[in-house]
Amino acid sequence: KKGNVGFVGLGVMGREMARNLVVAGYTVRAFDVVPAAVEVMSGTGIIPASTLAEVTADADIVVTMLPDTPHVAEVVRGAGGLLAFPPKGRLLVDMSTISPEATRVLSQELAQAGIAMLDAPVSGGPIGAKDATLSIMVGGDEDAFLRAKPVLEGMGTTINHVGVSGAGQTVKLCNQLICGINLQAICEALALGRACGVDLNQMREVLMGGSANSWMLEKLGSAMIDGDAAAGFRIDLMLKDLRLVLETAQHQSVPLPGTSLVTSQYIDARAHGEGSNGNQALFRVYDRMSGQ
Ligand code: NAD
Repeated sequence: KKGNVGFVGLGVMGREMARNLVVAGYTVRAFDVVPAAVEVMSGTGIIPASTLAEVTADADIVVTMLPDTPHVAEVVRGAGGLLAFPPKGRLLVDMSTISPEATRVLSQELAQAGIAMLDAPVSGGPIGAKDATLSIMVGGDEDAFLRAKPVLEGMGTTINHVGVSGAGQTVKLCNQLICGINLQAICEALALGRACGVDLNQMREVLMGGSANSWMLEKLGSAMIDGDAAAGFRIDLMLKDLRLVLETAQHQSVPLPGTSLVTSQYIDARAHGEGSNGNQALFRVYDRMSGQ
């Protein structure tokens, strides 16, 4: 066995990433606040835990894959958290997408307790998580990065150290900004194509062969056209990311008009009950606007 990983957060992404670490030869203990999320992992080789401390105590590395900033802060500062019970290996790798600013504060608090923290958010969606082909963008100290790298290689194929604490989150937010505006562009093309009576499935295929191709067109285009809203990456998680993008932009006084507009459309989608649907449900905003 290569070492002990304590994995926290077994949602859409985390359950696949934890499973891949078992395949890569790590001893993986896993915890989720929702007991059912832990129970479904039986038979995968993951050792289920019923408390956070059970997964962190013996861990060489603790990995978190949680929804948002408060959840990661809870794992760090909470009663059973890392500051109260420092993990054996004194290294936290947070792979969630959270605030870069809050990341820096948490990393400083942990550093004072002798625990290193890396921000290592991912891109590639549930498919990339399942296939261990995620792109992982890492912020933090070089020596912590080198310690974490073999574990990250069990979950992804494109692993880059992009700077100091928070830099991984900044790069991820730039990724999300592009994804959001790209989805909006696809929605607009589909709305226009539909109104003009072209075959949307054929149009998607044709566009994929040219300069308009994108990950979003390939992975979400068909679901948009078919009206299949099943979640991979949820509308409410993208809205969280866009909020983080706009907060960061405001801090830096950078105008982001495109992001502001698409964020309003995501808010519209959520207001119409699409929050727990996949991002392809952004197209429903265009359905409504064009009376479809
Ligand atoms: P998810 O909501 O499916 O999973 C999060 C899990 O964390 C849930 O099972 C929840 O019960 C658990 N959790 C919440 N608070 C907890 C706590 N205090 N302790 C332990 N467990 C706790 O979300 P997801 O889709 O897996 O995404 C996780 C993170 O990765 C998010 O930050 C998201 O933005 C990011 N991300 C998601 C995707 C995607 O396509 N789904 C892609 C890239 C990045």
